[in-house]
Amino acid sequence: MLKNTITFLGTGGGRVVVFRQLRHSGGMWLNLEGVNILIDPGPGSLIRIFERGFDTRDIDIIVVSHRHLDHSADLNAVVESATESTKHPVSMLVCPKDVVSGDEPILLKYLRKGIKRLSIAKEGKKFEYKNIEIDIKVKHIHTGAETYGLEFSNRKKKIVYVPCGKFYEDMLKGYSYGADIMIFNTTFVKPKGNILHLSAEDVLQMINTYKPKKAVITHFSLEMLKSNPKAIAKRLQRESGVQVIAAEDGMRVSF
Ligand SMILES: [Zn+2]
Ligand SMILES: [Zn+2]
Repeated sequence: MLKNTITFLGTGGGRVVVFRQLRHSGGMWLNLEGVNILIDPGPGSLIRIFERGFDTRDIDIIVVSHRHLDHSADLNAVVESATESTKHPVSMLVCPKDVVSGDEPILLKYLRKGIKRLSIAKEGKKFEYKNIEIDIKVKHIHTGAETYGLEFSNRKKKIVYVPCGKFYEDMLKGYSYGADIMIFNTTFVKPKGNILHLSAEDVLQMINTYKPKKAVITHFSLEMLKSNPKAIAKRLQRESGVQVIAAEDGMRVSF
């Protein structure tokens, strides 16, 4: 039987941590029954992919939750590498419209040929590939970038990814209950009214609502690193009764 794994190529979030590389960045590599999905290829993704023993040419699907550079800066490099200069296109790119069109698209025009199927994310949409379904779930409120939460599932497993954004009520309704893994971009320890990112307090509410089998916190700011993500995860676990893991660079979780 094929094993399902998710590898955290990087765990940094926020300007200082990512752009001074206090933690790696580069997104997550999800292997769901042999299908390889690269999620949020931020700065360094290309390097981290090979460093962790993967090969870009094995990528089936690339997913970008939103166009901010910490989630998309290596998109072009990865597509170039994965497709050998567009000769062997990747099967699908899932992303909001502003990643591929508008005044300042992230994906370079010449690389569009490197994508077989362009799937534009909108709340409620579902995209299928082989035995996998990618569901576009909650629309997030996030600075100047269309942002969506996503779920990846097959008949047996479900992974939920809650990317960056301000906490609001719909986040407690739109996602699935009891996922195998629920990943939260937990940038801050406490909510910061004017900064549109999730905090550990918000995440606790979501864990208590959705009761995943396992929760992972990642995408840490400097403040979060100073507060020790492991200690925060422990507290969330104690208060929710759900297993909570603080991601580390290169961490691989099987499920
Ligand atoms: Zn962002
Ligand atoms: Zn971010």
